Amino acid sequence: MSEPAASPTTEAPTEATTEAATGLSDGLADALAALAAPDGAAVLVGLDFDGTLAPLVDDPTASAMTPAARAAVTRLAALPAAAGARLALVSGRDLADLAARAAPPAGTYLVGSHGAETGHVRAAEDAGGAHRTDDGTDDGTDDGTDDGAGSTRVDAVPVRLEPEQAAALERLVAGLERVAAGTEGAWVQTKPSAAVLHTRRSPRDAARDAVARADAVVAELGLHALHGKDVVEVAVLPTDKGSALARLRDVVAQDAGAPAVRVLYAGDDTTDEHAFEALRPGDVTVKVGAGDTVAAHRVADADGVAAALEHLADLLGRRLAEGA
Ligand SMILES: [Mg+2]
Repeated sequence: MSEPAASPTTEAPTEATTEAATGLSDGLADALAALAAPDGAAVLVGLDFDGTLAPLVDDPTASAMTPAARAAVTRLAALPAAAGARLALVSGRDLADLAARAAPPAGTYLVGSHGAETGHVRAAEDAGGAHRTDDGTDDGTDDGTDDGAGSTRVDAVPVRLEPEQAAALERLVAGLERVAAGTEGAWVQTKPSAAVLHTRRSPRDAARDAVARADAVVAELGLHALHGKDVVEVAVLPTDKGSALARLRDVVAQDAGAPAVRVLYAGDDTTDEHAFEALRPGDVTVKVGAGDTVAAHRVADADGVAAALEHLADLLGRRLAEGA
């Protein structure tokens, strides 16, 4: 075998950055310009939370957006409706947890539990008003949050499990609890329609063994496991971020009254690949951090996401000023 010349790795997408002003790759800057083209299309900005806007931390209750990510998200949400931008957080966290951790600005669509739960953040003063959620209902299960930047409430569409799904969830939790009990540092999180084995604090060999045993539990129950970073997540409702994003595109088309909706989606984990795969020509896919991906673009971290969002906000503001 001949010695390969010092060649770039096959994994890193174009980093040939002449856009010193934005810090974005030329390819991403061009894609964002096309996304914000003045043709009346709405722009749905879908963002994963952990590892995308908030750096990954050992304690999931301590996750928080970086200041730059918070500023960019707040700015996008504050654009006038006529700018055509809609913001969505799309997470594996359950909806209440996502809302509490992210404290998203009013107007943000929320997708929790990989699509099993949906909601919409509104300003608290709208509490009595008619307000559309993803299925057009207001079930009154509001989770009030107040991040200090204005009080908001979440209209949440609750998860409804069939009796056999509820029974499967019970057996699943019991099985994963048995795995966790025999694994140093492992623990089980339960969600309305799923259970998650966490191994981030486990020694590597123990984590690998626990994942194998969790997979056996899942196979025995006839369920399907999603393998993420130090997590095995098992839902009793079939959902993924791709189908959730496709549904959200339709909701936004209706809410915004737009002839078309183009989507920007950014995420860091394997579960985000479903979202990338569900997107279409004209949409923009951004992988955050290292690892194989089908996304067309890549940024290094949450602050890279923030730079892309700031650039998009500039473009959308310009489009608004030009009256498109
Ligand atoms: Mg993530």
